[in-house]
Amino acid sequence: MLYVSTRGGMPAQPFCDVLLEGLAPDGGLAVPQSLPSISSSQLEAWRKLSYPELAACVLGCFATDIAPELLGQMTAQAYTPEKFSSADIVAVRPLSDGMSLLSVSEGPTLAFKDMAMQFLGQVFPHVLQQRGATLNILGATSGDTGSAAEYAMKGKAAVSVFMLSPHGRMSEFQRAQMYSLQDTNIHNIAVRGVFDEAQDIVKALAGDLPFKEKYRLGAVNSINWARIAAQVVYYFWGWLRATTGPGQQVSFAVPSGNFGNILSGHMARRMGLPIRRLVLATNENNVLEEFFHTGIYRPRKPAQTHVTSSPSMDISRASNFERFVFDLFDGDSVQVAKLWKALGSEGYFDLSSHLSEFESKYGFVAGVSNHENRLATIRRVFDETGNLIDPHTADGVKVAKPFVEPDIPMLVLETALPAKFSETIEEALGRPVPMPYGLEDLLGRPQKFTTLPCNVASVRDYIIEHATIS
Ligand SMILES: *Cc1c(COP(=O)(O)O)cnc(C)c1O
Repeated sequence: MLYVSTRGGMPAQPFCDVLLEGLAPDGGLAVPQSLPSISSSQLEAWRKLSYPELAACVLGCFATDIAPELLGQMTAQAYTPEKFSSADIVAVRPLSDGMSLLSVSEGPTLAFKDMAMQFLGQVFPHVLQQRGATLNILGATSGDTGSAAEYAMKGKAAVSVFMLSPHGRMSEFQRAQMYSLQDTNIHNIAVRGVFDEAQDIVKALAGDLPFKEKYRLGAVNSINWARIAAQVVYYFWGWLRATTGPGQQVSFAVPSGNFGNILSGHMARRMGLPIRRLVLATNENNVLEEFFHTGIYRPRKPAQTHVTSSPSMDISRASNFERFVFDLFDGDSVQVAKLWKALGSEGYFDLSSHLSEFESKYGFVAGVSNHENRLATIRRVFDETGNLIDPHTADGVKVAKPFVEPDIPMLVLETALPAKFSETIEEALGRPVPMPYGLEDLLGRPQKFTTLPCNVASVRDYIIEHATIS
């Protein structure tokens, strides 16, 4: 399988070549030139596989330049019962009203980002070793992505992580989770500023091409194609667990921000997985919900982005959305390039002429959830089923409810565990969440981080001093 840019300006390349890149040189995103289609007999043959075995098969469709046997070793290392607190790796837990949770947050950092990052933690060292190269991953995080990247890369040869976080602005749990890592290849940098400023520093350094080259800077942000590919696996897994035979349909509800998770569901559906609906849930930052209801995509500025109690979805510019629009236009990269140009000058684009296709052709529906809905849903789910769900998952359950149909399982993606967002759970239920097994002492563990002033020069100097280059 080869990958091209959504905007048409990149020669076709195999998986391992797009793996280490961020944006394509033309500003677009890497997408497969064509997708394999998985027959229903193939799907039935996959029913008996374990999660790592299924992951090797599904990822084998995308990473055709990695030997299947090697891919099998990587997924076996990435998805172990020791790292994921569920023996199945991803469990399906029934709620009420025809809904179930797809538990994709049983990994080391208690959010679904682990599903993709743990695979990157295997495939990056492999490709780097093959090329005799090193990589310094530079990123900014407001929580989940940074910690998932650090837990996946800790102790890996040839990879270092430089993760900027806004000093004093993460939850106590998130801080403890990241800063308690003592590995020498993990660099936690707390900058005295807010997340957007940290992000700007990363953009400035990654945009300085000679510096980027010399210090082998790379990224693991949500536009990374390998992350999308690794997430496709759990849609297949969820379908296989929720059905008993060929052709049965399943719907998925996905708490969304950057459109990465649900894009993987869209890819699975395009590969022939019998998905009825993809229910996109947003919080008060509803740019994507607005698009699916009006056809108008109008990203918002950081100042117009609300701070909410489902903070990992406080996103007003959905980085992966361009890949969906590319499919809407049947892979016409000239049209996509035009739209993003218009977006740059006008601040929006209007695809209302495609409105009827969103659901009929692609299965997409959407809805919004707010703080009150979130609290009420956490309470209701707990009272009715005894399950504690996190605020993001609650947004998914709230939005999914009106779309549940008789005899069609609705799998809501559990994008984080409640312990990560205990404050909101306490607001909803009047009591905090117990720490998960094995993490009881997390808040007391010694922490290792460097505090830097919020400017490019300080971070640049730190990287020069600590980067791995060979
Ligand atoms: C990252 C994240 C999301 C949003 O996922 P996207 O792929 O950006 O749409 C939702 N919930 C949680 C808990 C997250 O960490």
